[in-house]
Amino acid sequence: MLKTAAASPTPVTAEILEARDRERLERAKAIFARLEALREPFTAETVLAPLNDMNVELTNINAEAGIYTAMHPDTAVRDAAERISRETIDFGQSALQSRALYDALGQVRTDDPLDRRFIELERRDMKRAGVELSDADRAKARELRAKLTKLGQDHARNIRDDTRHITLESTVELEGLPADYVKAHRPGADGKIVITTNPPDMQPFMTYAKSERARKALWREGQDRAKGNVQVLQELTKTRHELARLLGYPTWAHYNLEERMVGTPEQLDRFLNEIEAIARPAAMAEFALLLEEKRLDDPSATTIGEWEQAYYTNRVKTKRFRFDAQEVRPYLEYRKVRQAILDLNAELFNMTFTPVVHEERWHPSVESFDVTIDGKPAGRISLDMHPREGKNKWFFNAPLRVAVPGRQEGHGVLNCNFPDPATVQGPALMEHAQVVTYFHEFGHLVHGLARANIKYTRLSRVSEGDFMEAPSQFLEEWISDHKVLTRFAKHIETGKPIPEDLVKRLRDARDFGRGLRILTASVALSRLSLAMHDGTRPGADPRELAKEIMAKYSPFERLEGTAYPASWEHMNGDNYSAAYYTYLWSNTIAKDLHTAFGGDLMDTSVSLRYRDRILAPGGTKPAAALVEDFLGRPGDLRAFTRWLTGSDA
Ligand SMILES: [Zn+2]
Repeated sequence: MLKTAAASPTPVTAEILEARDRERLERAKAIFARLEALREPFTAETVLAPLNDMNVELTNINAEAGIYTAMHPDTAVRDAAERISRETIDFGQSALQSRALYDALGQVRTDDPLDRRFIELERRDMKRAGVELSDADRAKARELRAKLTKLGQDHARNIRDDTRHITLESTVELEGLPADYVKAHRPGADGKIVITTNPPDMQPFMTYAKSERARKALWREGQDRAKGNVQVLQELTKTRHELARLLGYPTWAHYNLEERMVGTPEQLDRFLNEIEAIARPAAMAEFALLLEEKRLDDPSATTIGEWEQAYYTNRVKTKRFRFDAQEVRPYLEYRKVRQAILDLNAELFNMTFTPVVHEERWHPSVESFDVTIDGKPAGRISLDMHPREGKNKWFFNAPLRVAVPGRQEGHGVLNCNFPDPATVQGPALMEHAQVVTYFHEFGHLVHGLARANIKYTRLSRVSEGDFMEAPSQFLEEWISDHKVLTRFAKHIETGKPIPEDLVKRLRDARDFGRGLRILTASVALSRLSLAMHDGTRPGADPRELAKEIMAKYSPFERLEGTAYPASWEHMNGDNYSAAYYTYLWSNTIAKDLHTAFGGDLMDTSVSLRYRDRILAPGGTKPAAALVEDFLGRPGDLRAFTRWLTGSDA
């Protein structure tokens, strides 16, 4: 049932967006003018409250602009959103550089721990924006920041606008693919079968297609996307280095990692070495098995290409664990999965989800729900789940509006690219790995919903960025649990629940390849993201760095001459840049958090404690303290090491 009857709510236009956000920006500027003119006494009421008001205005603009830039179907709206976002970020930087405000904050007398933390983090933001620099250097810092914003937008747009495809030579090249996939890829009017680089097309193709030619051609197109970003990345890393130096840091990596749990590039280096030492032997043993499998096709094979990794991994899983990923697909139909994810989260975190249509919806395929937690209104979520022209092609969560208690309810958005039940012929079946991703991304939404009662917007997000993936990776476990899966995974034709034996084989097979994944994806890419920002070669050709790093950390043969890593989404902003290791770091925490559940993942006494101690506090406490509050001890690497070495089996 839809709460609002409106079939087609007024769509957001570039004019509406521009007018609304310009008003917000004017309000923010007026507040800032008053803050700069403040005289003693400096108190929570005179300084902190208006500063938070200003932050709310700026956050509202940036949140809305971010969502519409990534997802709005109208180019005019996307362009307006980019424009207003640049202006807002620039104003935000100038506010962070206000010496008057910085000094006023330093003189606020308050015993409230929340006030104190707000002051501490806000002053650190200001220091990192260059407030302590000379007038000339402050101006220079702003100029470099504005350049970074622009380059980041160019980077994202280049990826968004470049979907590639290959044309199959004949239907024979669909051999190996699931029947539902073949059905959805019938020859077009010209008799040709087209496979795109969009995830719903590409992921199954790389896993199942027998044709090496076609897989290799598709991989090449995927790797070659967003060519223009080779130059953008060179400019980005050069400009980041310049800004970091100006702000008094030895390198961008030092600047970028300062606010995180890991703290410094030196600490990160040690962490990556430690993980590599555990992962490498496991990875090499797995690689040998893949090569053995490939030699059944080609007895003289001595290497495996990156375009063969998913294919042979799946074949080994099929044989060793009698697990074929295709066996699971008929149990995972998109709509059933979506409902199951809502139901599971409802139960685990005591939430309800009521469908709603609202005026902010940017595309008819977007589904929205009003949420309650413990029976109280807790904001709204929107799911934009399928690929389309001009839309971001990755998977992420971001707020359209952050929650401010007593003032505005939060609105979280998921951007995904799953098979679309409205456009595929037959049922939209999902890969198990896609369902895991869905649950992961939903975890970010739940995290956003749970921290709705924090009065300072600055303290809503967890302050250490490398903790951000932990709450989502933690939830991935649920989707491989038999007790959980039998609740919703029913065969599309027979209606029978997923057999226990299949789930057991899925679990056994799931972890095969983890050594290679950790080494060649996590460690290698963490090293690459660090190498691009460690100050040794700012502005270097990222293709050369990638070549060098992958040769050290990956046993797979690479395709030469592509634009890779030009289409690497994570490189465009401060959230990752030098910090791709975030996934690995968060994963070690996720495995640790998971130990609290013992054998029963549906134990709501634990999941509610998790909701209240890990999710709800947001950034009001350091992340390490959240972990300790929940586990009753400091976090450590033991659970992750057990998992990676297979000694938890
Ligand atoms: Zn995530």
